Amino acid sequence: MSEAYYRKTPQQALEAQQASAGGLADQEARSRLEKYGPNKLSEGKKKSVLQIFLEQFKDLLVVILIVAALISAVSENVESTIVIFAVLILNAVLGTVQYLKAEKSLESLKAMSSPSAKVLRGGVRVEIPSADVVPGDIVLLEAGDMVVADGRVLENFSLKVNESSLTGESEGVDKMAEAITAEQVALGDQKNMVFSGSLVTYGRATVLVTATGMDTELGKIAALMNQTQQRKTPLQQSLDSFSAKLAIVIMAICAVVFALSIFRTGMGVLDSLMFAVALAVAAIPEALSSIVTIVLAMGTQKMARQNAIIKDLKAVESLGSVSVICSDKTGTLTQNKMTPQKLYADGSLLEGEELDLVNDVQRLLLKAALLASDATTNEETGTAIGDPTEVALVMLGDRLGIDEEAYRAQHPRLGELAFDSDRKLMSTLHDIDGVPTLFTKGAIDVLLDRSKWLLTREGKVEMTPQRKEEIARTNMELSMEGLRVLAFAYKELDTVRPLTLEDESEFTFIGLISMIDPPRPEAIQAVADAKRGGIRTIMITGDHKVTATAIARQLGIFQDGDEAVSGVELDEMTDADLDERLAKISVYARVSPEHKIRIVNAWQRRGNIVSMTGDGVNDAPALKKADIGVAMGITGTEVSKDAASMILADDNFATIVKAVVNGRSVYENIRNAIQFLLSGNTAGILCVLYASLMALPVPFQPVHLLFINLLTDSMPAIAIGMEPARRGLLDRKPRDPKAPILDRPLLSRIGGQGLLIAVATMVAFYLGYQGGDAMLASTMAFATLTLARLFHGFNCRGAESIFHLKFSSNKYSVLAFFAGVVLLLAVLFVPGLKGLFLVSPAFSLSRLGQVVLLAVLPTLIIQLVKLVAGGKHTKE
Ligand code: ATP
Repeated sequence: MSEAYYRKTPQQALEAQQASAGGLADQEARSRLEKYGPNKLSEGKKKSVLQIFLEQFKDLLVVILIVAALISAVSENVESTIVIFAVLILNAVLGTVQYLKAEKSLESLKAMSSPSAKVLRGGVRVEIPSADVVPGDIVLLEAGDMVVADGRVLENFSLKVNESSLTGESEGVDKMAEAITAEQVALGDQKNMVFSGSLVTYGRATVLVTATGMDTELGKIAALMNQTQQRKTPLQQSLDSFSAKLAIVIMAICAVVFALSIFRTGMGVLDSLMFAVALAVAAIPEALSSIVTIVLAMGTQKMARQNAIIKDLKAVESLGSVSVICSDKTGTLTQNKMTPQKLYADGSLLEGEELDLVNDVQRLLLKAALLASDATTNEETGTAIGDPTEVALVMLGDRLGIDEEAYRAQHPRLGELAFDSDRKLMSTLHDIDGVPTLFTKGAIDVLLDRSKWLLTREGKVEMTPQRKEEIARTNMELSMEGLRVLAFAYKELDTVRPLTLEDESEFTFIGLISMIDPPRPEAIQAVADAKRGGIRTIMITGDHKVTATAIARQLGIFQDGDEAVSGVELDEMTDADLDERLAKISVYARVSPEHKIRIVNAWQRRGNIVSMTGDGVNDAPALKKADIGVAMGITGTEVSKDAASMILADDNFATIVKAVVNGRSVYENIRNAIQFLLSGNTAGILCVLYASLMALPVPFQPVHLLFINLLTDSMPAIAIGMEPARRGLLDRKPRDPKAPILDRPLLSRIGGQGLLIAVATMVAFYLGYQGGDAMLASTMAFATLTLARLFHGFNCRGAESIFHLKFSSNKYSVLAFFAGVVLLLAVLFVPGLKGLFLVSPAFSLSRLGQVVLLAVLPTLIIQLVKLVAGGKHTKE
C-alpha cells in the first residue's frame, strides 16, 4: 500500500478502516516501520562531527592562542608553536566529544519523556512508544492525549483538539474533528483530519494514521524551520557574558602590560608580547563554560536515575531556588490505593461487609456503584484495573461475592457522561426493569445539592433540609477520618436518548460509599525535609476540604493555625484577600485546575519560586505558569507532560523534594567549580602582573598555562561538579534566584585563595631565579602553580574542611588529583616532553621537593581556616 493510499483519498481510507478494524498485524507494522522509519521529527539538519569540531575554533581564545603560536614561531621557539597547535587540536577534540556526549544524554532524556500512543494491533489495544506508530495504524485518542501522527477520524465521540502547536497561535482553539461521511468522502474533504502535535482537550476518537514523522504537517514545518537550537540556561548565559567581559578587560590590561614592559623595563617587543600573551592565556577561563554544561548534564542524568526527568536544563537551576511546592493529593502525596470503608444508606452507617442485598436501598447503592464505573477485576490475576476510586467500588462488590461483569451484562450501558474533575460527577444510563435509569456518582457536595428526593426503605421521600443535614453530618464524620466519600444518586428518564449535562439534576439520592487512600510514608518524611530546607508544601486537591485537611495533618502539611480553603471560597476572595491569607493556607480543596493558576500567581507575587504538579489537560496552563511545572509520568496526560519542565517517573511527591535537593547541589557544585577555576586563574594573573611590574622574566610560557587551564585544571573541576549532595543542603533557605552566582563572598574567596597560590608560586620562582636562571625559575613557577591548583581542588569541594567532607566521599576528586600529578611529572621528567614544555634541565628531584612543599602550603592554610571557622562555614 502506498503512502498516498492513506493521505490522499478518503475513500480508500474508509476501505482501510473496514479492512483493518482490528488494526495492523504485528508483522505488517514492523515492515511498515522499516519502510517509513520511526515516527519522529528529525532534529533538522544535524551538525556533522567535522562541523562540531571546526566550531570549537570559533572562540576569542583561539585567536589569542594562534597569536601566541605565531609569536613563538617568530621568536624561533618552534617547539612551543607545535605544542600550542597540539593543545588547540586536543582541546577541539575534547570539546567535540563533550558536545556529542551532551547531545546523546539530552536525546535519551527526550526519549524518556516522549509520548506513547494507544493503538490497535492485531485486534488488541496496546500502548506503544509514539516513535513506533506507522501509517495505517488505528490510534485511539482520548482527552489528555497528544496526537502523535496525522490521521483521519474514523469514529468520533465529541473529539476536540487544540492545534496551537501547529498554527503557532499561543491561544489554542478547540477544533471539532468530524468522522468521515459519505458526502465528505465524495468531496475529498480534509475536515476530519487530526494533526501530529495537537492536543486532545475533550472526548474520544479512533483515528487512522495517514502520515508519520517528517511526512506530517508538523514535520514539514519543522523541516522548514530547521529546528531551533537548544537555548542556554540563564546561568550559562550569564557566565558567557562574564567570560566575554573578562576577555575585554584582560585585553586592555594586556595592552597596558605590553606598553609597560617596553617603555618601563626596556624589554624587547617580542618578550613584551610574550608577557601580554601569557597574561591573556592565564586569565581566560577556557574550560569554564564547557564544565558548567557538563555538570548541568550530569545533574539531569542523576535526577533521571532518581525518577525526576528534567525536560529543560533551565529547570535544574530553578529547582535550587524552589520555595513553595504545590502538590496534588491523590497519588502524589497519597498511595492512590483506595480501599472501601464505611457505607451509608437508608439512614444507617455500615461496614462494607455488612451491606444487605435484601435491603432495596443498599442493593441499589451497590448496583449504582458497579454500573456507573469502568473498573474491572481480572479473575486470573486477582488484580483490578481502572481508576482507583472505581477500583474500590469493584473491590466492594468482590467482598460481597458480586461479579461486576455479570451486573453490567444484565444492564448494558446505553449512554454515559464521562467523569471530569471540574464537574466531579460521572453518569451512565441503563435499562433497569424496562425503565431507562441514569446512575450518577461523584462529589457529595455537588450531588446532594442536585437531589430532590431521597431513597429509603419505604420508597422515595422528599429531600428535606433535615435529611440533607443528616447526610452532610455523616459525610463530615467520615471525611474527618481522612476518607474519600463518594455519593450515589439515580434518575429515571422517559426514553433512551443521548445524554446532556442538563440531565445531571433532580436526582434521587441513594447513599454514600467511603474509601481510604493512605498517605505515602515517604511523603511524610519528604514534607518534613522540605520544611527544614525552608520550602513550604501546599496541598491542592479536588477532594473534600475535610478529607483533605485530615490527610494534610497526617502528612505534616497542615498544622494548628493553618487554614484550608475550598475552590468556592477562593472564588469569593479578591487578590488582596488572597495575598493577605496566603501564608496561612496549606490546603486548597475542591479546586479546579483554573484555581491553580491563581495560587501560583499569588505565591510568585510574593517573590517565591513555585513548583506546581498537575496531571490533567486543564492543568497545562498552571504547569506552564509555575517556575517548575511537574507532570506525573504514570497517570499524567500527554498534555500535562508536554507543558511541564519536569516529569515524575513514579508520580511521587518525595521525588520532587529529592529533585530540589539535587538542584541545590548542582548549583552549589557549579559555584564551587567556578571558585576553583577562577581562583587558579587569579593566581596565574597575579604572578604575570607581578613579574611584569618587577621587571622579572616572564614566569610562564603560554604552553604552561594552556596545560594547566585545559588539562590539569579541568579534571578536578569536573570532579567538584560530581560532588555528592549532602544532607546539609536542606539546612539552609532556598537560594535567592536574583542573587548573582559570583557574589561578594565567592569573589573574595577567589581573590584570597588566588593570592595565596600566587605567593607560593612566586616564592618558587625566586628560588629558581637565585642563580639568574630564568628557565629554571619559570619551570619552578609552572610546577608549583600546577600542583598548588591540583591540591586546591580539594579545598573547593565544599565549604567544610576536607577532613569533614572525607576524601573517599568523592573518589573522582582523588583520581583527578593523581591524574594531574602524573601528567605534571611526565612533563617535568620525560625527555621529549621536557623540551616541548621548556622545562629547565636544571630541574632536579630536590627542586621537586621544594615545589611540593610550596604547593601544598596554600591548601594547608585554607584547610586550617576552614577547620577554625568550623560550623560557621557549614551554615553559610
Ligand atoms: P487531586 O489529584 O487533585 O489531589 P482528586 O483525585 O481528589 O485530586 P479529582 O480526581 O478531581 O481529584 O476528584 C474530585 C472529586 O470527584 C473526588 O473528591 C470525588 O468526589 C469525585 N470523583 C473522583 N473520581 C471519581 C469518579 N471516577 N467518578 C465520580 N466521581 C469521582
